[in-house]
Amino acid sequence: MENCIFCKIASGEIPSQTVYEDDQFRAILDLSPASKGHTLILPKKHFKDVTELEKDYAAAILPLAAKIGQAMKKELGCAGFNLVQNNGEAAGQTVMHYHMHIIPRYTNGPKMVDWKPNESNPEEQQELAECLSKALQ
Ligand code: AMP
Ligand code: ZN
Repeated sequence: MENCIFCKIASGEIPSQTVYEDDQFRAILDLSPASKGHTLILPKKHFKDVTELEKDYAAAILPLAAKIGQAMKKELGCAGFNLVQNNGEAAGQTVMHYHMHIIPRYTNGPKMVDWKPNESNPEEQQELAECLSKALQ
């Protein structure tokens, strides 16, 4: 993809702080990290978002994220990590090349925004479940 910054970073055309690279992916430090060590996994092939992601990339990215998260716990001393993956502008995606965030979480912060749990309505829940399960058959 021409003019896609993550294609250029993934291919090495634009330099980055690379923490891992193989045939399919490059993992880089996020330029504006949410916490120390915030990493992004970029596929070397352009996919807009998870709905386009090919199966062999999808199968490989979670084990890689887990491996990077383990390395963060061991080497950076974080207590845990979040995997975050935004799809679409409304969901907060700002770079339209699929990527997975690995965000280290430390006991002393920083605090991250959590969603507020709402009460569910049983009838609406039933309708939603029926609607989605029908679409997924
Ligand atoms: P998202 O909002 O899920 O699309 O995430 C895009 C992420 O890419 C943000 O966390 C940005 O800080 C990060 N980012 C944007 N440009 C660069 C860049 N050139 N190098 C590293 N990270 C970047
Ligand atoms: Zn791209």
